[in-house]
Amino acid sequence: MAELIDGKRISTMIKDECKQKVEEYKAQGIEICLAVIQVGNDPASSVYVNNKKKACAYVGMNSLSYELPEETTQEELLSLIQELNERKDVNGILVQLPVPAHIDEKTIINAIDPKKDVDGFHPQSVGSLCIGQPGFVSCTPAGIIQLLKRSDIDITGKHCVVIGRSNIVGKPMALLMLRENATVTIAHSKTKDLKAITRQADILIVAIGKPKFIDASYIKDGAVVIDVGIHRNADNKLCGDVDFDSAKEVASYITPVPGGVGPMTIAMLMKNCVDSISLQ
Ligand code: NAP
Repeated sequence: MAELIDGKRISTMIKDECKQKVEEYKAQGIEICLAVIQVGNDPASSVYVNNKKKACAYVGMNSLSYELPEETTQEELLSLIQELNERKDVNGILVQLPVPAHIDEKTIINAIDPKKDVDGFHPQSVGSLCIGQPGFVSCTPAGIIQLLKRSDIDITGKHCVVIGRSNIVGKPMALLMLRENATVTIAHSKTKDLKAITRQADILIVAIGKPKFIDASYIKDGAVVIDVGIHRNADNKLCGDVDFDSAKEVASYITPVPGGVGPMTIAMLMKNCVDSISLQ
């Protein structure tokens, strides 16, 4: 029976460390401010944006909130980003994704000053991660590294299989595990015989976006299983990409959904905002 990796506890620890650093900066007369932009009123995005504002308040950071109407043009959004790029009192800029279809996501991500790119999505941030230079790292994969390290799970030399190759989870996750000296395999929808590959993993990180897709038959005895997926089932209950009840019988450690990877994303956003001071 697997031991639970407690994302709630670890994320609170990280937020409390951020709180401490924010106080230290305040004592030196330095305030940290995150600007959050939402275009349109997608209910899920509104929940995420509110949680980010609440986390800023918890750690003692300032937050600026821009709730723009759905019909905002790309030019208007770009001009707001430009203004925030230039403001000395703004340290981090985050545009809540997805943006409406008439706005090009890549153009928006590219417009954010890489020194304020606390989401870690700018090509310069991704490039820096790739070649081992300082820069912001995408919050969800960075949070997973913290979950592993703070649960005393050794990464060096382990075979890590990452399922999923998205720009925000799978790819940065694989790069981070490589940086931690794991031997990394990336699987995706075109991978042949997925099960034969996942059964070799000492650490299996699942970011497929399909509810309960990975059950015990995909998992080697004693493997560590990290579930990135978030879904709501017909009974309005949350579940992940991993079939938790079956997987927990073979894994040595496992993240639950909710309470695993989910809370880490915002905690790492707070950490990126605090770290922005030294990068700037
Ligand atoms: P995504 O962009 O949809 O990417 C899914 C990846 O899974 C793709 O690379 C896809 O392969 C691969 N895939 C799909 N079906 C597969 C299959 N049958 N076998 C092997 N690989 C398969 O999703 P994402 O943004 O990375 O997110 C993944 C999950 O994590 C979602 O449930 C999302 O809600 C969740 N998420 C959670 C957090 C958090 O804070 N906890 C943050 C971000 C995302 P191809 O590239 O070949 O299409």
